[in-house]
Amino acid sequence: MAEIKLENVSKSFGNVKVIEDISLTVGSGELVVFLGPSGSGKSTLLRMIAGLEAITSGTLSINGVRSERLAPGQRGLAMVFQNYALYPHMTVRENMAFGLRNIGISNSDIDVRVAEAARMLEMENLLGRRPAQLSGGQRQRVAIGRAIVKDPTAFLLDEPLSNLDAALRVRTRVELAELHQRMKTTMIYVTHDQTEAMTLADRIVVLNNCRIEQVGTPMEVYLKPASRFVAGFVGSPA
Ligand code: ADP
Ligand code: MG
Repeated sequence: MAEIKLENVSKSFGNVKVIEDISLTVGSGELVVFLGPSGSGKSTLLRMIAGLEAITSGTLSINGVRSERLAPGQRGLAMVFQNYALYPHMTVRENMAFGLRNIGISNSDIDVRVAEAARMLEMENLLGRRPAQLSGGQRQRVAIGRAIVKDPTAFLLDEPLSNLDAALRVRTRVELAELHQRMKTTMIYVTHDQTEAMTLADRIVVLNNCRIEQVGTPMEVYLKPASRFVAGFVGSPA
């Protein structure tokens, strides 16, 4: 499990600041939700943690090791994207195995991991299919499975349910919560949906305009919003 610590982290694209002076510690095994409107910087923050985007200033560390010393592949993190990002020409099994081969895991170990993840997500019957032969919900399970097989110390999920219909969104949300319970890994879950945040989070980080508005448990954020913005966004009682 990973502890992820940000100190005074800022990010600019050219001279446009998109993350401003964020300090935050995500505890080992914690499920933290980044909640905020579109454009508030959620994905950029997650991508910096994943190592897909450089930080402009401040420090980021994972289990006490500074991010400059950790290439993305060394961070022990697995990311799940909104658009699944599956390889269309590969089967489900190959999609899940692909990233493991690159990091030198043996074929027999890969088979075991893929079988375990498939069982956990109840998709053993899909392993031979290609992405085009799957529904949106099934594709998202494959994307989650591909993260699970890496046995990551933390999962980073960027709006993983936003392409699913309402019923499936609720079901997959419950499954993700169960997965977190079972695996006890650190999870950072990005969403603009306050219901998802309220039902999943140990703590919610509310982002707006490149900054943190509030950090707190769902109840704290809902009942004691730190600003008018937070109250409006999470629908706090007046
Ligand atoms: P969110 O995920 O909360 O919708 P993002 O992190 O995607 O927000 O974006 C935050 C801001 O950064 C937005 O104004 C967006 O236009 C800008 N931005 C994101 N990525 C880039 C990029 N590669 N180049 C320039 N601006 C970007
Ligand atoms: Mg985003």
